[in-house]
Amino acid sequence: MSQAQAGETQGAAPVALVTGASRGIGRRLAADLAAAGFDVVCAARSTSDRPGRLPGTLEETAALVEQAGRRAWAVPLDVRDEAAVAALARRLYETWGRCDLLVNNAAVAPAKPALADSPQRWRLAVDVNLNGPFYLIWHLAPRMAAAGGGRVINISSGAAKLPQFGRPGYTVTKAALESLTECLGHELRERRVAVNCLRLEVPVWTEGFAATLEDPSALGFEDPVIMSDAVLWMARQPLDWTGQVVTIGELRARGVVRPETRVAPTRS
Ligand code: NAP
Repeated sequence: MSQAQAGETQGAAPVALVTGASRGIGRRLAADLAAAGFDVVCAARSTSDRPGRLPGTLEETAALVEQAGRRAWAVPLDVRDEAAVAALARRLYETWGRCDLLVNNAAVAPAKPALADSPQRWRLAVDVNLNGPFYLIWHLAPRMAAAGGGRVINISSGAAKLPQFGRPGYTVTKAALESLTECLGHELRERRVAVNCLRLEVPVWTEGFAATLEDPSALGFEDPVIMSDAVLWMARQPLDWTGQVVTIGELRARGVVRPETRVAPTRS
C-alpha cells in the first residue's frame, strides 16, 4: 500500500494504532500492517516485565513490526482507563504527529450465561469491548479530522448476531460496537473520519479464544491472516465509505479475503 493510499496526511509513513496487540489477531494485524508500510503503535497490557496469563507481549509484537522495516511503539495500555487513552492520544501526536488508522481489536469474552456470572464480569465486557473503543475514538478522531482525515476499524464478532452463543456480555457489547460504528460513521462523515466494522463470523485460531473453549479440537479454525486481508482492504477504501459493518464471508466472496484457511488447534 502506498503512503498516500494508507493515510490522508502526506509526508512520513502512515501510522496505525492497534489495540490488543500483545497476541492473537492483534499481533498478526500489527505485523501485516507494518509489512504494508504502516508504523505501528502496539497497545495492550502484557509486557515482558508484566506478562499476562497467556503467551504474548507488546515487545514481541513490536519486534515483528521492526522486522518488517517499520517503526514500532509498544505502549502498555488498559483500554478501560480513559485517562491513559487520553495520554496516549496526546503523546502519539506529540511524538509521531499522526494517526491514520485505529484498529479497536482488544476484547474479552466472558464465557458464562449472564446470571451465572457476576455484575463485575458484565462491567468488564462493557468496559473493554465498548467503552474502550469509544474512548479511543473520542480522543483520536478529532485529531485525525484536524489532520485531514483518518480511519477507524472496530473488530466485532459473529456472536453479535447469536444470542444463543451463551456469552451475553460478549454478544451485547459486540452488537453495541456495531451500532456505535453506524452512529459514528454517520456523525464523523463530514469530518472525513471513516468508522467501519469488521464482523468476524468464523473461528480464527488464537490462544485467547482457545482458552475460553472447553474443547478447542471440536472447532475448525482459520488463520489470523484472513483478518489482515480484510483490514488492509478496509484501510484502502475512500473516506466516504463509512458506517459499514462487513463480514469475512462478504469480503471473501468479493475476492478481498483469501480462500478458506485451516489451522490445527494447539495448546501452548
Ligand atoms: P485474544 O487472543 O484473547 O486477544 C485479546 C487481546 O486483547 C490481547 O492482546 C489482550 O492483551 C487484549 N486486551 C484484553 N483486555 C484488554 C484491556 N483491558 N486493555 C487492553 N488490551 C486488552 O483475542 P483474539 O482471538 O485475537 O480476538 C481479537 C478480536 O477479534 C477481538 O475483538 C475478538 O472479539 C474478535 N473475534 C475473534 C474471534 C476468534 O475466532 N478468535 C472471533 C470473532 C471475533 P492483554 O491481555 O495483554 O491486555
